[in-house]
Amino acid sequence: MVVVMKERVTTEQVEQVIAKLVEFGMDVHRSTGASRVVLGVVGSGKVDPRLIEMMDGVHEVLRITEPYKLASRTFKPEDTVISVGDLRIGGDEVIVMAGPCSAENEAQVNSTAAAVKRAGAKVLRGGAFKPRSSPYSFQGLGEEGLRLLRAAANTHDLKLVTEVMDISQIEVIDRYADIFQVGARNMQNFTLLRELGRARKPVLLKRGISATIEEWLLSAEYVLAGGNTEVILCERGIRTFETATRNTLDISAIPIVKQLSHLPVFVDPSHGTGRRDKVAPMARAAVAAGADGLLIEVHCDPDHAMSDGAQSLFPGQFDRLMAELRIIAPAIGRSICLEPVARRGWAR
Ligand code: PEP
Ligand code: MN
Repeated sequence: MVVVMKERVTTEQVEQVIAKLVEFGMDVHRSTGASRVVLGVVGSGKVDPRLIEMMDGVHEVLRITEPYKLASRTFKPEDTVISVGDLRIGGDEVIVMAGPCSAENEAQVNSTAAAVKRAGAKVLRGGAFKPRSSPYSFQGLGEEGLRLLRAAANTHDLKLVTEVMDISQIEVIDRYADIFQVGARNMQNFTLLRELGRARKPVLLKRGISATIEEWLLSAEYVLAGGNTEVILCERGIRTFETATRNTLDISAIPIVKQLSHLPVFVDPSHGTGRRDKVAPMARAAVAAGADGLLIEVHCDPDHAMSDGAQSLFPGQFDRLMAELRIIAPAIGRSICLEPVARRGWAR
């Protein structure tokens, strides 16, 4: 365990923490870094890290036995900021990726892209290869879908994120997309993760539906270990006993992962709730909790969407949500869509 003290800590506070650790039977090795006192704690005693975390002067308590190494803050204390062209993911600005669940046809992709751009999104989302629970559901347009998404992204000056389900799709997706999305169902497809480690484009890694945070970070480790340092984590809800929502969106994962890892953390409130009326509250909560960005499903005609219509926002709802986020983000020292995009009066 490593106890990292706050920058302006007093000698007395440090001594109190050391005394508490010794009381629990631990050996404490003190070191003073450039700006902080760090306590290395070893020994056979047992101490509840939460007790130490709550003590005055303590900045954070970290395990040094993390199974993931490159993904951990211990390895890299400063936040990772990923550049995609002029976009900076993981910096001060909260980045919103939005668009349909699936690319369906040119008009749908294009009008949805126009709407999300106008509201302030920076990245177009949309699936061309869809992981559907039923083999009889719409499976996506494949390369034709990629072509439609890329064209719309270019027209509306958006970056493009799209899902890769299998190593055989990496090459074709690489030709169209700016960011590879790994879906929840593939979070532990280790062959795919290893292969994406060799890619030179960012990977947005969704949390698996039954994955612990540690398993999620270990999956990120696969990509990082392969030499690709650009991983964006995305919380999208986990499977619990609750049935009122499609999944249970783990908002607490945001501050937890931000502490454990230097990687940017996004939230997908669409799959997280499965309900259009619950997307905005969860998106607001995610930004307030410190998410670096959001991934949101928006459809120009959600009631006729070929996938995930019930959780897709109408353009007007997305526009209103973005306006709300512009109030929330500065309250926690973040910005969002600095350049206001011309409004053309979406119906609310
Ligand atoms: C999606 O983003 O459309 C999707 C299938 O997400 P998930 O992998 O989180 O279910
Ligand atoms: Mn979807």
